[in-house]
Amino acid sequence: MVRPSVKGALIHYHEIALKGKNRGFFLRQLEANLLLATRDLDCGPLRRPAGRLFLEMREETSWEVLRQRLSRVFGIANFSPALAMAPDLELLAKRIEEEVSSRAFRSFRVAARRAFKTFPQTSQEINETIGARVKHISGASVDLTNPDLTIYIELLPAEAFVYFEKCLGPGGLPVGTSGTVACLLSGGIDSPVAAYRMMKRGCRVVFVHFHSQPFADRTSQDKAIELVRLLTRYQFASRLYLVPFGEIQQEVVSRVSGRLRVLVYRRLMLRIAEQIAQKEGAQALVTGESLGQVSSQTLENIAVIEQASTLPILRPLIGMDKDEITQQAQQIDSYDVSVLPDQDCCSMFLPRQVATHTTHREVELAERPLDLDRLVAQAHPTAHSLELSFPSR
Ligand code: ATP
Ligand code: MG
Repeated sequence: MVRPSVKGALIHYHEIALKGKNRGFFLRQLEANLLLATRDLDCGPLRRPAGRLFLEMREETSWEVLRQRLSRVFGIANFSPALAMAPDLELLAKRIEEEVSSRAFRSFRVAARRAFKTFPQTSQEINETIGARVKHISGASVDLTNPDLTIYIELLPAEAFVYFEKCLGPGGLPVGTSGTVACLLSGGIDSPVAAYRMMKRGCRVVFVHFHSQPFADRTSQDKAIELVRLLTRYQFASRLYLVPFGEIQQEVVSRVSGRLRVLVYRRLMLRIAEQIAQKEGAQALVTGESLGQVSSQTLENIAVIEQASTLPILRPLIGMDKDEITQQAQQIDSYDVSVLPDQDCCSMFLPRQVATHTTHREVELAERPLDLDRLVAQAHPTAHSLELSFPSR
């Protein structure tokens, strides 16, 4: 019997490796996120062998489930189901012989890498030694360009890893390393994708949804909750604020001319979202706007809307086509929820014509009959929130 090896996920991280002095901070956040993402799977411990992470698996851990979870932890470049063992050539050869004996392949290659050059043999010598042993027991031939099986070996001073497949990670930066943002989430296709893209850049996202209850039914809120549930798979805990907007809209309808209403709604939404951002320590607002997609998203209107906010507004989709956004929505599973019919607050009190060209002065004049501070306060922006977590407790 050969000395034991340990099974686990070998994780290579992404840009964090480049972050110089902040490396420790990025790595700690990645580790915390990995533990959150797998907290119900009975894995661990999570170790930090040089330049990598290794999450030990139990006999009963399902790789399929773990693979799904790791594919949503931002900051991971790639990962593999791997065996960890002492860095000893004979031990490696024996374990690899055992492993390949249960696999069917006609050709193979060995890809050894020494992270440090302290190992007595060169990578090429290791490839040749292991290659000869595998060839001997399997009868398979060596194929360096298109083999059925690749045997990856990574050698560190105190440990060696062996694996046979590489899974692509999601890339990006660990959620929590870029601060907090508040995303205005409608029930549409775009804003969930915008939130996803900010998470991928390391932001923790707080969600704000405006609804028109009691003038409308619950559908838009239910959609927002479901969308946040899906997005929480990438940040593990989320807060969603559900803000009643119907009464505010009624007042706008009674005092503001039709063609400017959408702009006034949007500006009010930003003012309310800012209050939430302040409570949450969020440093920016995020919207799903894409240039020219609808009439409220011309450059002029974007500029006029933006002036209502003192926080920066991030629009990760601004240069994307609807097709590209839709494709991304499908990838993250939000599309099917977004296209469900709902009673969206903005389509409810919508005039037939929307101004495509406005000026700041025009909108300010239109807002003059409104008591903006009272309207914002009346929405009780921070009154209704709910918490979602993944994996659910
Ligand atoms: P989406 O697909 O995200 O709904 P859209 O193309 O329909 O976007 P608009 O309706 O002009 O565009 O909305 C622009 C942005 O304003 C949205 O992406 C979202 O960030 C915000 N927004 C619109 N309606 C709401 C709402 N009811 N609650 C929260 N945010 C909203
Ligand atoms: Mg919309």
